[in-house]
Amino acid sequence: AEGEAGNKKITTPEDLEMLRMTGERIPCVGYGYDVHKYADGNEAGQPARLMRLGGVPIAGSPDVLAHSDGDVLLHALMDALLGCIGAGDIGTFFPDSDPAFDNVNSAVLLDTVLEHVQKANVHITHVDLTVIAQIPKVGPHREMIRRNVARLLGLDMGAVNVKATTEEGLGFTGERLGIKAVAVVTGLRGNR
Ligand code: ZN
Repeated sequence: AEGEAGNKKITTPEDLEMLRMTGERIPCVGYGYDVHKYADGNEAGQPARLMRLGGVPIAGSPDVLAHSDGDVLLHALMDALLGCIGAGDIGTFFPDSDPAFDNVNSAVLLDTVLEHVQKANVHITHVDLTVIAQIPKVGPHREMIRRNVARLLGLDMGAVNVKATTEEGLGFTGERLGIKAVAVVTGLRGNR
């Protein structure tokens, strides 16, 4: 079938440059992944934190070991945002050796990341977040997490998806030793 005249095929760097010159926005995708270990009461290393997912406290769940507040979901989200703008990862921005980030609220770190996203002229259009854990059950907190992440990002709730899965008792999440999260962010990059 004939394509629409407005639909330009992007196959060469020159095509991309042409899109930039005409002010069209180019889709971009970022992926993030994070893991935190659960406290078992005899750690010498990082401190134990009350669990937060997407900025929402999760009562009755295991404590999480972390230098920061240990919000695995916001950490994965921030890495995905940085991935979207080609800016490395949160370890570079907020090293866990820096006392400034001791028990730091991840929502505050997210604000800094969002400033970089804005400077990169990227408009975030959608985020898809997955929590992977045997415990706690995420379902009862899902909508609250979704609402809070949407608020933090300034997006409609419809542009934020939160889901959860177990790994069927397998691996470190199955053994209830820790929690992981993955995030995919899609955005549109405008002219620089
Ligand atoms: Zn983390």
